[in-house]
Amino acid sequence: MRTKVAIIGSGPSGLLLGQLLTNAGIDNVILDRVSREYILGRVRAGVLEEGTVGLIDRAGAGERMHREGLPHDGVSLAFDGRDHRIDLLGLSGKRVMVYGQTEVTHDLMDRRRQTGGLSIHDAEHVAPHDFDSGAPYVTYTKDGVAHRIDCDFIAGCDGFHGVSRRAVPDAALTTYERIYPFGWLGILADVPPVSHELIYANHPRGFALCSQRSASRSRYYIQCPLDENVADWSDDRFYDELRRRLPAEHAQAMVTGPSFEKSIAPLRSFVAEPMRFGRMFLVGDAAHIVPPTGAKGLNLAASDVHYLFAGLEEYYGDRSAAGIDAYSERALKRVWRAVRFSWSMTTMLHRFPDTGEFGQKIQEAELDYLVSSTAASTALAENYVGLPY
Ligand SMILES: Cc1cc2nc3c(=O)[nH]c(=O)nc-3n(C[C@H](O)[C@H](O)[C@H](O)COP(=O)(O)OP(=O)(O)OC[C@H]3O[C@@H](n4cnc5c(N)ncnc54)[C@H](O)[C@@H]3O)c2cc1C
Repeated sequence: MRTKVAIIGSGPSGLLLGQLLTNAGIDNVILDRVSREYILGRVRAGVLEEGTVGLIDRAGAGERMHREGLPHDGVSLAFDGRDHRIDLLGLSGKRVMVYGQTEVTHDLMDRRRQTGGLSIHDAEHVAPHDFDSGAPYVTYTKDGVAHRIDCDFIAGCDGFHGVSRRAVPDAALTTYERIYPFGWLGILADVPPVSHELIYANHPRGFALCSQRSASRSRYYIQCPLDENVADWSDDRFYDELRRRLPAEHAQAMVTGPSFEKSIAPLRSFVAEPMRFGRMFLVGDAAHIVPPTGAKGLNLAASDVHYLFAGLEEYYGDRSAAGIDAYSERALKRVWRAVRFSWSMTTMLHRFPDTGEFGQKIQEAELDYLVSSTAASTALAENYVGLPY
């Protein structure tokens, strides 16, 4: 088989890139090692920047998002027993859209099917080859039969544990990493959210986040030690701990109900540079990971796609390589800004094991400054709604 762009990975970055290319008449094939159903069973991000919303619209997959998604004009920072609202819209002129990654993925998969794009699922042993030459190709096995796709370019959209980054020689890659000494224990439950906007809580017992997927589905998180065992957390124990970390008004108003998903996620900042190796590009989590504080992971995947699609469109439309040559530098500039923001939110809001009471007091002073200074609140709002592409 031959295509122009072979895309490894059918997560948000692979699907979004594939759809934009298809809409522009640029032939592409998406390969994923798991099934469509498995991908749609993953629960992940839920806050979309305006830039991401715009790209999903451009892909032609935004109709349900605008119907069912929840535009949010603000977020709350809770500390010292009180809520402090950051007026995102008033301070930055932009809002965010609360719409689950699962739904984004679903809508992009539907759109791909409607427009006849080829996706190959349950592809085993996917491997990129010869991307440092003018004739790259991807091999995989399906139902025991070996296949090869020749292509102009390979897009490595295969997440942090994928094969694309690992196929790059160590000497060609520089990585930067910070692993945080805690994780997030999260639940998903069909109960109305405790507040109509998200609450990020700093508390001496640890961080908590009240997020949501819809008006009737809540996503709640509490900071926990990395060696915590999910099985030790009954729903009652989880809700009790969450309530302790929230201002009294929210703790009392919280509606609880059985969770249908419960898991612990580690927190990590990671960047691999550069994001282009000859005729292969790394996109999204394949190149970088941010802790979820600040809701940037999915949005960064989308901004990478924006830069790469622009470069590929220019390559095929104008026969100019300027856009793809600039991809890594342009994407990384925005990536590092989001890595910084996610790190600063994580540092400001979590209880660190080694900083003690002093660390807690410094965080409270920082939060107090942040909510009482228009300049500081505006800086947070600008970053939270997403820096411009
Ligand atoms: C548990 C969890 C919770 C998260 N919560 C948030 C959040 O609250 N907010 C936020 O902004 N972000 C969050 N994120 C991050 C966000 O989900 C990611 O940034 C986003 O999924 C990145 O999209 P992607 O397409 O680059 O990668 P992925 O979504 O990881 O997609 C990669 C795809 O590649 C496929 N693949 C992997 N290896 C291979 C292979 N060898 N061959 C073929 N295919 C392969 C995978 O099956 C997958 O479908 C979370 C992530 C996780 C894991």
